[in-house]
Amino acid sequence: MKEKILKLIALQDLDNKIQLWRQVVDQGPEKLAQARQPLETAKSDVDALKEKISENSKRRRELEAESADLSNRKTINQTRQLKARNNEEYRAVLKEADNIAALATNCDDVLLTLMDEDEKLRTQLPGLQERLESEEKLFEEKSQVITSTVEDGKKNLAETLKARETSLETIPQDLLSRYQTVAKNRNGQAMAPVTKGLCQSCRLSIPPQLFNELQKTEQLLVCPNCARIIYWTAHPHFKEFAPDEPPEPIPDAKTPGAKGRKSQAKKDSAKKVRAKKEQVEQDQAETDQTGQDQLEADQVEQDQIEADQVEQDLAETDQTPTDPPENSEATEESSESQP
Ligand SMILES: [Zn+2]
Repeated sequence: MKEKILKLIALQDLDNKIQLWRQVVDQGPEKLAQARQPLETAKSDVDALKEKISENSKRRRELEAESADLSNRKTINQTRQLKARNNEEYRAVLKEADNIAALATNCDDVLLTLMDEDEKLRTQLPGLQERLESEEKLFEEKSQVITSTVEDGKKNLAETLKARETSLETIPQDLLSRYQTVAKNRNGQAMAPVTKGLCQSCRLSIPPQLFNELQKTEQLLVCPNCARIIYWTAHPHFKEFAPDEPPEPIPDAKTPGAKGRKSQAKKDSAKKVRAKKEQVEQDQAETDQTGQDQLEADQVEQDQIEADQVEQDLAETDQTPTDPPENSEATEESSESQP
């Protein structure tokens, strides 16, 4: 059994790595797009400014043409003033002259304003172009890092997938099926280390009887709370897979006879609960795609709600008093030191 569990731990490790490398590869395009954003902003700022300068130039050309036209009309008007044949005609020509002068003044005013504006716009251009150049360089650097990270990710993913293929060949089919079922329902996390009587995945305590069985490592056991396959991290075989924890004393060997039966009853009960929970978790998994942390948090919440039910089920098949169902965090010490 130790070897089987070791194989599953190794498989979990590979699956975790695969998940990680997939993330690295999948996030590549988004990271590139994010890195490109400041460059795009700088580009559009330069483009917008150039557009304004171009609009200004176009408007000034129109006004210059208008100004030239008014100048022509002024010359013609002056000739007509000289040729006026009577007072009435002369007054009409003078009125037209006033009109032309007013239009010319207005045209000149607008032209002056536009020229001022053009000057201001053009002074902004070098700064924006400089910013654009530096953003181009920055993006070049960032994109190289992202691209090489993704390339490494692809390479590592391929290698890890290959290692997983090899690893699968050594795992019996029934064991693998069990692992895969739990993994599927637990966001890829089928294995749960148990330290100091506490499942390190769902953070709830393992009932003392089950914990005793776990320490013997004679059969495949699951956490009654989160249904993951559990292993005891203080076991000499699994120590290297333990989270950083102070060493714990190995409790004395226990009464064998009745315990096996009770443990089996617990397992059966846990199975029923697990079946129920699998359904809940599937529903949960469908609506919760926001990542491992969130999922874990939700699971703990869900598990806590169901923990009472689990304990109740266990109590029905196992008359041995167990640790109280609710204060799971506080039972760390008591479950460990259980005789
Ligand atoms: Zn658990």
